[in-house]
Amino acid sequence: MAKNRAAAKRPGKKANTPRAEGEGDLAGRGLGDLQGVIKLLGRAGELVRVKTEVDPHLELGGVAYRFHGGKAVLFEKVKGSRWPVLAGLYWNRALLAKVFNVAETRLPFHFAAAVAKWRAAPIPPVVVKTAPCQEIVEKEFDLRDLPAPQVGTEEGGPYLTAAVTIAKDPDTGVRNASIMRVMVTGRDRMTCLMDMGRHLRDYYERAQARGRPLEITINIGVDPAVHIASVVPAVAAPIDTDELGIASQLLGAPLELVAARTVAVEAVAHAQIVLEAEVLPDVREPEGPAAEVTGYYAQRDDRWVVRVKGVTRRTRPIWHTIITGREVYNAVGLMAEASIFAAVSSQVPGIKGVFLTYGGCGFYHAVVQMRKVMEGLQRNAILATFAAFPPLKQVTVVEEDVNLYDPQDVEWAIATRLRPDRDIILIPEARGHELNPVTDGGIGCKLGLDATAPHPRPPQFERVKVQAVNLKDYDIEQ
Ligand code: MN
Repeated sequence: MAKNRAAAKRPGKKANTPRAEGEGDLAGRGLGDLQGVIKLLGRAGELVRVKTEVDPHLELGGVAYRFHGGKAVLFEKVKGSRWPVLAGLYWNRALLAKVFNVAETRLPFHFAAAVAKWRAAPIPPVVVKTAPCQEIVEKEFDLRDLPAPQVGTEEGGPYLTAAVTIAKDPDTGVRNASIMRVMVTGRDRMTCLMDMGRHLRDYYERAQARGRPLEITINIGVDPAVHIASVVPAVAAPIDTDELGIASQLLGAPLELVAARTVAVEAVAHAQIVLEAEVLPDVREPEGPAAEVTGYYAQRDDRWVVRVKGVTRRTRPIWHTIITGREVYNAVGLMAEASIFAAVSSQVPGIKGVFLTYGGCGFYHAVVQMRKVMEGLQRNAILATFAAFPPLKQVTVVEEDVNLYDPQDVEWAIATRLRPDRDIILIPEARGHELNPVTDGGIGCKLGLDATAPHPRPPQFERVKVQAVNLKDYDIEQ
């Protein structure tokens, strides 16, 4: 995109110095940037490379969607761009388990442990002098030249979906990192959504009250540790804390930031591309329609305006995008499941697992797996789960012999253990999630499904079991 370029100083020291290898220690395993992650995915056979040129307008999303939930997809040639585009990094938990070097079912607990360690003894990010994200400082730029794709056919324009926004509290200077949707509207202009109740919105409201813009950096193509840190909910990372420290925990080394050139906010040193920008006070321009987490379009409306002041990047950056669907469900689900598990376990004995299903958008349907030690506890588990995560619409409780991650197995439990006249619990007129179109401004009926067998378990509810074997012990030709 650069018409004129100036090379920045070469990095003075090697960033993210490798450390002793450990579970989830991303920096020590060379996963402190997207280039390292792509290498790992390639080695693990978890990467699809699309060699044919694709148009970022609809075509890229259409091709990516054919791999939805499977391997990650690297588009090597993107029309109008010199840079490749990575999609699907977060749509498959098995793939993320390889990145974080933990068992798939441990992922939510791994992230929760990182948050707990960070709260007990934070490793603050460090600000370095030179950084890969500033190898090139663009003298001229046009945001419309970026390979930001438009995925949904009715969307209002190209969207930045995987960009981590960093801002500073106008009063305390505490950093916030979050992901918001941003639509490209002009050469140096974009519109965005800042949700109510989020720290970024809070910062903005206070800046605007003083007639000032809120300065931000928009970091495109961050490593998985920064991504996870930026999707930690506000309840786990209060407004007086810098959640970027969570990335340090996952990296196993202090996260490296660098001062932006044109705004007084830091950028992620290992990001691919950084947009230095400000959200303008009092100005609103059209944003949307946008493909939302619900699987529906958020409607076009006048929303906040981002003016970009500077662009820096790596010499050979990789654009990163998140495709609507499982990538978003996992961002919600992986962070919420561990906290729901902890909250419900503190109320009800025997809780074994919690999964926020893909069919429920990571927001609306929790399957709770428990060992039923006493009749009635499964109903308490339903109540405790609704209390632990207000956006939920549905809670289904199953026992240990049911695979909570398998929708067919959950259906089996409903088909053979749930008595519709007695085991369906309706909680009318309760508060849920405003984005769910079936609610009335967030108010709607919640549904509890008790798909557990009677306790103690009568013989007719004893599930058929087969012998456990390890296929590695057998010579099998397939
Ligand atoms: Mn925050």
